[in-house]
Amino acid sequence: MEEIKKDLQKIEATVLSIDKKLGEHLAVHRIANGHTAEQFKENEKDHKLILNEREKLVDKNAEIFKSLDKKLSVSYDDFIRTTDKKRHWPGVYLLWEKLVKAGDIYKAKYKGYYCSGCEDFLAERELIGGKCVYHDAEPELIEEENYFFRFSKYREKLLKIIGKNKIKILPESRKNEVLNMIKSGLKDISFSRSAENLPWGIPVPNDDSQVIYVWADALVNYISALGYGSKNLKKFKRYWPADIHIIGKDNLKFHALYWPAMLLSAKLALPEKIYVHGFITSGGQKMSKSLGNVVDPFLTAEKYGSEALRYYLLREISAFEDGDFTEEKFNVRYNGDLANGLGNFCARILALASKDKISAKLKIDSWINKKIKQTAKSVDEKMEDLKFNEVLAIIWDLISFGDNYINKNEPWKISDFKKA
Ligand SMILES: [Zn+2]
Repeated sequence: MEEIKKDLQKIEATVLSIDKKLGEHLAVHRIANGHTAEQFKENEKDHKLILNEREKLVDKNAEIFKSLDKKLSVSYDDFIRTTDKKRHWPGVYLLWEKLVKAGDIYKAKYKGYYCSGCEDFLAERELIGGKCVYHDAEPELIEEENYFFRFSKYREKLLKIIGKNKIKILPESRKNEVLNMIKSGLKDISFSRSAENLPWGIPVPNDDSQVIYVWADALVNYISALGYGSKNLKKFKRYWPADIHIIGKDNLKFHALYWPAMLLSAKLALPEKIYVHGFITSGGQKMSKSLGNVVDPFLTAEKYGSEALRYYLLREISAFEDGDFTEEKFNVRYNGDLANGLGNFCARILALASKDKISAKLKIDSWINKKIKQTAKSVDEKMEDLKFNEVLAIIWDLISFGDNYINKNEPWKISDFKKA
């Protein structure tokens, strides 16, 4: 699921970058986090992975991500990894320093339930039946002395910022979810882990016994990619704050709360929008290896082409909720919308045009022109709200309008047509 969820957000980001209004100012960043316990654990089970093999594993995974980007024709301006000591680590150190300077970092003993899938300590109210809702796993009880971030200090500010759409969260239901999180109380966050228990990651400045907590490391990628922490701040000045963060619903808390609180503490500008999409299920169920229903994006793109897969994901998956993938549904869209809809329409137009040597200077009836303009306007409006599925529905509405028009008017019978 992780795989295809990320594909959806990459495709959405690509579409946004193509959208003319954003294109000029948008820098799309792909981030590969090499410091997650999840990547490590997964393979530890299979291969008894030893520490110096971690590098090889994350290198391999980064290459898989990149080759999938290529396969799906995903475009981006930069690709940065949290293992990048030259580009990323200085940004993390600088931000940590700022949090220390703001008086927001302190050391304390902590005992809590940690989900390695979420990379986060979970409050008891976040568990269902003692398990993490996203990972269907019991979190581990951890007791450590860590550095803490004074997250609670930012409660009122965050309430205002989110409540007044200073950071606009889409959809509204996710905004309400965040407001409820704030209202139910924000506890300070453990912002480091013992280096003994987590032997990789970025060491806390002046204390090698601790490594920086994964979110205090990974989220900084958004600005380290722009040169934050380096001497060259040209890109940082030009592109930060971000117009938009595109995230999955399981990353909501980190992007809508942790990250803004860190930025406030460091006195940096806040992102303008956060767009939250759902998960992709397979046959109505969560994808899992044990159920055998995992959809391989490589194979699907290979079989049907990246454009068809991109179309399906943007059209069939609701912009804000979970959506489902099955081969049957895919085929319905593929045959109905692409082959019969768009494909037929184009084939007929092209056949007519070539047969009758029609030039592009054809006069178009004003009411048809109006219909086309209306479509363009609605597309722009829906794009503004990031409703990718509705945008495509509007475009396909115009296609079927064209199809019906041809059926009804049989343009090959109109004598004027040939003269044009
Ligand atoms: Zn979890």
